[in-house]
Amino acid sequence: MNQEGILVVVSGFSGAGKGTLIKALMETHDNYALSISATTRQPRAGETDGKEYFFVSQEHFKSMMESDALIEYAQYVNNFYGTPKDYVEKQRAAGKDVILEIEIQGALKIKKKFPETLLLFVMPPSAQELKRRLVRRGTESPEVIAARLKRACEEASGIEAYDYIVINDDLEACVAELHSLIQAQHNRTANCLELINRVRNELSLL
Ligand code: 5GP
Repeated sequence: MNQEGILVVVSGFSGAGKGTLIKALMETHDNYALSISATTRQPRAGETDGKEYFFVSQEHFKSMMESDALIEYAQYVNNFYGTPKDYVEKQRAAGKDVILEIEIQGALKIKKKFPETLLLFVMPPSAQELKRRLVRRGTESPEVIAARLKRACEEASGIEAYDYIVINDDLEACVAELHSLIQAQHNRTANCLELINRVRNELSLL
């Protein structure tokens, strides 16, 4: 079928467990590449530059924006986050499906630029559970947790823009569901235009 990898956006409220889910997906399948974003946020304990993110200064981020090095970018709770273009293009050209773990503004920009993108939204089983997970993670101050929960309320109003919801309850089941949704996206007619045109041509020559 089509050789080029597809784009898959995975969004979800802070604390919904996207990170764990994507890590498990990458560990169990080798046809995915995870885009590493640039951010002006400070690294959390245990985060390494070039692994979770490229941690950059405001000036550096601005220069990336201005030189068109980002496919999309957005502001999220006082910091900037953006997707470097180069890696995404190279991985797709190599046939890998590229996962973008980004928030809703970025997701909508990507969908506009690349309409064949699959947009997935990870939901916690309940709002209570979301708050519990954020507090238990212990990486953010109470003020930042409050700001992230407020942002979750705002993002909740945009969920209908996504193609599918994935409920993050049982990790293994959730990974399997994610994988099968992505595989199905490969068979969408919009992602098979090369094949369709080739067979059309062949038919016309019969
Ligand atoms: P965190 O600070 O918890 O790592 O990320 C905050 C939010 O920014 C999350 O919703 C995450 O998905 C989003 N995010 C991370 N990288 C990017 C990016 O490159 N672009 C956009 N638009 N959002 C991002």
